[in-house]
Amino acid sequence: MQYENCFKICKGRVKSKVRLKKSFGQHLLIAPGILQRIVEFAEIRPGEVVVEIGPGTGNLTRYLLKTQLKKLYLIELDREMVELLCKKIKDPRVELICADAKSFDFSSLSEKRLKLIGNLPYNVAGLIIENTVNFKDLIPEAYYMVQKEVAERLKSTTSWLGTFVNTFYTVDYLMTIPPRFFLPPPRVYSALLVLRRRMEPALDIEPESYKKFLTRLYAQKRKMLKRKIKEEVLIKAGISPNKRVEELYTEDFIKLFRYYSVLFEE
Ligand code: SAH
Repeated sequence: MQYENCFKICKGRVKSKVRLKKSFGQHLLIAPGILQRIVEFAEIRPGEVVVEIGPGTGNLTRYLLKTQLKKLYLIELDREMVELLCKKIKDPRVELICADAKSFDFSSLSEKRLKLIGNLPYNVAGLIIENTVNFKDLIPEAYYMVQKEVAERLKSTTSWLGTFVNTFYTVDYLMTIPPRFFLPPPRVYSALLVLRRRMEPALDIEPESYKKFLTRLYAQKRKMLKRKIKEEVLIKAGISPNKRVEELYTEDFIKLFRYYSVLFEE
């Protein structure tokens, strides 16, 4: 599916032609001031290794390459965009990867530390963030543009994903971006978020089993916790068995998971 036949894009000048596809969530950020601010927020230091998710036609990429980063990996799923980028970007620090960021194995890059950045495709932003958290040991910071509502939800514990992210990262809201700065403009407002990895207390929690535990607790949110998890565990963790999942704080989930794992070895 595509939006309109053809957009001609390149910093306002007519240069390259590309079809923008709705199925890939392609809304290009075209405001130089916003692109510049995103890169400033990311505070890229000399020698850093950066991964951009969904570079599209390379609007943000160009600003990233003005910094002194050591290496820039671009992960883009749309082959047409990859071909365009390949022609356009000649910087030797860039490595283009045609892959799906929802399931990309960041450890395959053989880097010790990655800074992630991207104007994410909004239809799959949650799944890309989930995959980022799976590689928390390699990723101390991520700067992501998402739909504003998603940004607000990620800052709370109203969804399992919010709790999952908040367990390993602090989430800060950096700025709101109105639709007019994108091509084509999305129907929603956008927001830039930063995820900064927490040092304590969650470092030793294994994401996969924690994810299973959380999705189980978040199923049928209205049910009291004692209907989902043994009262013995709740009491040991100091949580009232009559509470509902949305009444818990991130720290409660961490505590509960620890008792749950010890008692049931799950
Ligand atoms: N960064 C660009 C484009 C953002 S639009 C800009 O700001 O102008 C989102 C981009 O993510 C598109 O280029 C789209 O093709 C790409 N994309 C969509 N799904 C993806 C996925 N699963 N993995 C990696 N890239 C994806």
